[in-house]
Amino acid sequence: MANLTLPGAGEASATTGPPTAPFAALPSVDRLLGQPELAACVGRHGQALAKRAISDELEAQRAAIRAGAAAAPLPALLAAVERRIATLAAPTLRRVINLTGTVIHTNLGRALLAEEAVDAAAAAMRGYVALEYDVAAGGRGDRDDLVDGWLRELTGAEAATVVNNNAAAVVLALAALAAKKEVLVSRGELIEIGGAFRMPDIMKAAGCRLLEVGTTNRTHARDFESALGPRTGLIVKAHTSNYAVEGFTASVDDATLARIAHAHGVPYMVDLGSGALIDLSRYGLPKEPLPQESLAAGADVVTFSGDKLLGGPQAGIVVGTRAAIARIKRHPLKRALRCSKMTLAALEATLRIYRSAHRLEQRLPVLALLARAADDIGAAAQRLLPALQAFAGESFVVRVESCASQIGSGALPVDRLPSFALHVASRRRRGGRALEQLAQRLRALPVPVLGRIHDDALWLDCRTLLAADEATLAGQLCGAG
Ligand SMILES: *Cc1c(COP(=O)(O)O)cnc(C)c1O
Repeated sequence: MANLTLPGAGEASATTGPPTAPFAALPSVDRLLGQPELAACVGRHGQALAKRAISDELEAQRAAIRAGAAAAPLPALLAAVERRIATLAAPTLRRVINLTGTVIHTNLGRALLAEEAVDAAAAAMRGYVALEYDVAAGGRGDRDDLVDGWLRELTGAEAATVVNNNAAAVVLALAALAAKKEVLVSRGELIEIGGAFRMPDIMKAAGCRLLEVGTTNRTHARDFESALGPRTGLIVKAHTSNYAVEGFTASVDDATLARIAHAHGVPYMVDLGSGALIDLSRYGLPKEPLPQESLAAGADVVTFSGDKLLGGPQAGIVVGTRAAIARIKRHPLKRALRCSKMTLAALEATLRIYRSAHRLEQRLPVLALLARAADDIGAAAQRLLPALQAFAGESFVVRVESCASQIGSGALPVDRLPSFALHVASRRRRGGRALEQLAQRLRALPVPVLGRIHDDALWLDCRTLLAADEATLAGQLCGAG
């Protein structure tokens, strides 16, 4: 090993030359480890982590000494080691305060779950559960049975199955229903949903041949009819969830597409994306298409996400006819894409809330945030204004400003919800850099605070400020965090 020593490192070795003297003042790893001041911290996190923190700190000290600094006194060294232990022990997945105003934010974990769902997932993690066990019969069961009944009741489907996410649901359904066959999709619906979900690529991955039908802005029933042929295996409609085609447009509705597909003896599938289970206009929100509507219109399969508007865990829900769902469940990919007991527990609890139809807007956080009254949001912004002004300093002006929140995750892409934000502008003429720095200071807080910069201002939309986060945020801004 010795011959691997990097050039120059010899100067810093403890055996030669004048620079050794300050290094000698540094205590050894073992001596630091044995300090009573560290005992509680080491007891909590273990010797291995403490040793790593100590070696890291000693390394940093040697580098500082080499650069001309004096050796740090023991108390300072111990405090630095404790900070390093805390950093090493901290979770990588960090809690953040979302003030982007986007309720279903894919980068921030999408839907917040109902307390009942959180409890159900925690219970499933802590103890044994009858995940694939029929307790009455005393034999093997099917994990889909946990949610199948709820999904059938809520959507009117004959059968249901659940996989890891909606992308998985689409791939699985395509592979099971139309592998090696042609799949007809309107040119207006060749969607890309963030990241790597692009309809043409998904088709390829599932082993299907995509046949584009119609044009980008207008597709008619006759386009589908003339595209159908002996190799057609499926007609697919993809909900244009993150954009809107407006102006001179035409698309074919579910009932017509289902009729055309069935007349030709092939199934009709709808990828709904978000898929709300209830009509959101009840809560003053724009209406999103419902799986039960597509099914009633004749769709054989409808897929949607568990963690978008539904407000549950990440999952891909597939509902449809008994025959189509049976084919999907028999496909080997189903086993590869199945979801965990945590997911199923949380999903079941979420579906049970919908089934009860009782106090939904209080029990489902996504609905609560989407339906949150603008007055309530404005009041929260007002309460935080003085603390944010003090945090930002004299060179910024903070005020409460009306804004528009996004629902997010492609749900209802063109709709915005009236909201209020803390609006921070720089007093300087070109304050762009200052705003970036302020945004960075907010992200550097113990619980990072995320907003968005546009129109020469930093906007902190308070729609997504959770009641439980308000005190944390205020405390952090006042330096108590
Ligand atoms: C979001 C979305 C998907 C992907 O769903 P995930 O649950 O993120 O895998 C697929 N199709 C549409 C139309 C979507 O909106």
